[in-house]
Amino acid sequence: MRQKIVAGNWKMNNNLEAGKKLAQEVLDKATGNEEAQIVLGTPFIHLTVLADSVAGKKGIEIAAQNCSDKASGAYTGETSAEMVKSTGTNYVIIGHSERREYFNETNAQLAAKVDLALAQELIPIFCCGESLEIREKEEHFSYVKQQLTESLFHLSSADFAKIVIAYEPIWAIGTGRTASSAQAQEMHAELRAHLASHFGQELADSCSILYGGSCKPSNAKEIFEGSDVDGGLIGGASLNANDFLAIVNSF
Ligand code: PEP
Repeated sequence: MRQKIVAGNWKMNNNLEAGKKLAQEVLDKATGNEEAQIVLGTPFIHLTVLADSVAGKKGIEIAAQNCSDKASGAYTGETSAEMVKSTGTNYVIIGHSERREYFNETNAQLAAKVDLALAQELIPIFCCGESLEIREKEEHFSYVKQQLTESLFHLSSADFAKIVIAYEPIWAIGTGRTASSAQAQEMHAELRAHLASHFGQELADSCSILYGGSCKPSNAKEIFEGSDVDGGLIGGASLNANDFLAIVNSF
């Protein structure tokens, strides 16, 4: 179902105490009547305790930042979708550009992660986005559409309906350089049309497509004004409860 979502991605920040403190601050300052669904994307160590603390609270959920592309077994250091779900967590970020770049995750592996997540009734926040080099070659639309095709187009309509997409141009992540609201809207509209060409207009119109890349309280409102922009995936600014909630309240 299409809804406004603002998801934080803490990345590899916050030890157990710091994570509990930050999440508590978000919980204390959120009213529960925010227009956007709030999601906190935390390291695995936080999932159990934070999923517990948001249980039964309206409008706030926890996400893992990754899950394995294998169901179980001898994969030392990996965490399965089933393990994530067993903590009470309901979302999982899949295919963040840092995982694609530093851990060589491919579109095919990401398709497997999406399947395993859906099998556990986790909601995937599926990330896509192009590098600066690809944008400068003007191949960004076809590149990002291919990411969606190769990782999501095998899904049934019923499964696709559960997916959230985050468009994150790599050149805007953690760089302070954000896409303009026009660039974000243009890509989101292109992606929605691509989804419609395969899954039909109704399902494409029901999909939440978030923008990510140096989103801050000062630029979120303008970015979220795009008619195809349904919220944001927020890295750096999600580490400060006031900044994060200011973004949540930017609609
Ligand atoms: C991210 O990591 O998903 C992200 C968008 O980071 P930042 O907001 O810091 O650019």
